[in-house]
Amino acid sequence: MSVRVRFAPSPTGPLHMGGVRTALYNYLFAKKHGGQFLLRIEDTDRTRLVPGAEEYIKESLEWCGLTPDESPWIGGPDGPYRQSDRQGLYKQYADELIIKDKAYYAFDTPEELDAMRARLQAAGVAAPAYNGVTREHMKNSLTLSADEVMERLDRGDEHVIRLKVPRQVEVRFEDIIRGWVVVHSANVDDKVLFKSDGMPTYHLANIVDDHLMHITHVIRGEEWLPSAPVHVLIYEAFGWERPAFAHLPLILKPDGNGKLSKRDGDRLGFPVFSLDWVDPNTGEKSSGYREKGYYPDAFINMLALLGWNPGTDQEIMSMEELTRSFDLTRVHKGGAKFDPEKAKWFNQQYLRMQPDAELGTQLQELLKTQSIVTTTERATQAASLLKERATFVADMLEGTYLFTAGSPLQENEVATTELKKRWKPEAEPAIEAYINALGSLPEFTATTLDVAFNNVLQEKGMKVGQVMPIYRLFVAGRMQGPGMFDVSALLGKEEVVLRLQAGLALCRSWA
Ligand code: GLU
Repeated sequence: MSVRVRFAPSPTGPLHMGGVRTALYNYLFAKKHGGQFLLRIEDTDRTRLVPGAEEYIKESLEWCGLTPDESPWIGGPDGPYRQSDRQGLYKQYADELIIKDKAYYAFDTPEELDAMRARLQAAGVAAPAYNGVTREHMKNSLTLSADEVMERLDRGDEHVIRLKVPRQVEVRFEDIIRGWVVVHSANVDDKVLFKSDGMPTYHLANIVDDHLMHITHVIRGEEWLPSAPVHVLIYEAFGWERPAFAHLPLILKPDGNGKLSKRDGDRLGFPVFSLDWVDPNTGEKSSGYREKGYYPDAFINMLALLGWNPGTDQEIMSMEELTRSFDLTRVHKGGAKFDPEKAKWFNQQYLRMQPDAELGTQLQELLKTQSIVTTTERATQAASLLKERATFVADMLEGTYLFTAGSPLQENEVATTELKKRWKPEAEPAIEAYINALGSLPEFTATTLDVAFNNVLQEKGMKVGQVMPIYRLFVAGRMQGPGMFDVSALLGKEEVVLRLQAGLALCRSWA
């Protein structure tokens, strides 16, 4: 039997990185086993729908390279893949369970349900539930006469259909990640399967669809573990073979034990969503990995190792390598603490792995947005110098002085203040001698500049630390950055001499 897995998000907002990881593990598992990865939109809860969320899910998966084999947009043999487009087919399954005495009609009003909970709470029950015991005292087809039930249904009384959880049984299943899970049925509620609005609940639709879509493995977040016994009972009620379950560990806050939330991201300054998102109802903005400048393969690589390891020390892994090594049994049971610094580290590694020409093109594009026009060749040369300090392509924008003409000290208050602190008149003859030496260099390369500079230092009896910062501020306008000989070689003799002279003129004006 071929492996078929699904990612089944509800379009209730942007896709949390935990959701992307769930999609990724499903994808890797499917590809590893030569199976199919399906995407199903679970939108039966109409009250929680958020406009744009479905489109966001689609775009996120595309950006991450997690293209489903079957989805609402591509279609497939077991479609439709959007639950609202399957709306008509769930009722018959709820009816089937009623006929099999595995489900029942419940007519209780919200007030009656509240009263039941209040009564139980007053009697000391911590988590009051509609279950095998309490259902005996409620208005449902188990307690009412058949005639009355008929009457109520004919009259169109509001009602739901609930799962009839068997009493005194152990619900057990083997989770691929967690091992045996055993829950006593006394701890499982009679979940609503079909709502009074004519829509199935998540539980019913999810099981019916997994069955009809021939899903072999359900790989999803740990937050669904408490629902799994209900699902096992629903499969048993239908008499269907159930898929294997694998519940993934939570992604935890970097500092603490709770589940990673958007608030943690806002507080500590990192995205928790894949793409930027503006909530259409509140206008609230959330940042995404894509817009922060992450490469999708770096993001994916980082997520893959958040809760799983290949059993080796290898950290940098392409999608092909991840697919080859992926194994659900190596997914950790415990929560995975998210480390935002590590996420950056991954991006930095991916940035460094790229050929300079590639980075050059990316830098060139970015410079354009700053109205700086340059050739690909020059951007490539600059990228080869700037990439050492860059985690994101945008970090290379600190090297704009490589592309603009004229002294970088102009209207640069930070640099001027720094220069005032560092400037010593003794440096003046050394800079002058260096300017002279540049004039007679046969070749203007990092090596010849290095030699010329050191000759001048020796001749003037000065140390690197006395002259280099000044050279740097004159030519680059900042204290950090690539080596000054490389920078100068790229700028060319004329430009370097001009900047050195402009710097000297400025310092002299302070005397
Ligand atoms: N619609 C559920 C969600 O939003 C799917 C859970 C499952 O995979 O069964 O996560």
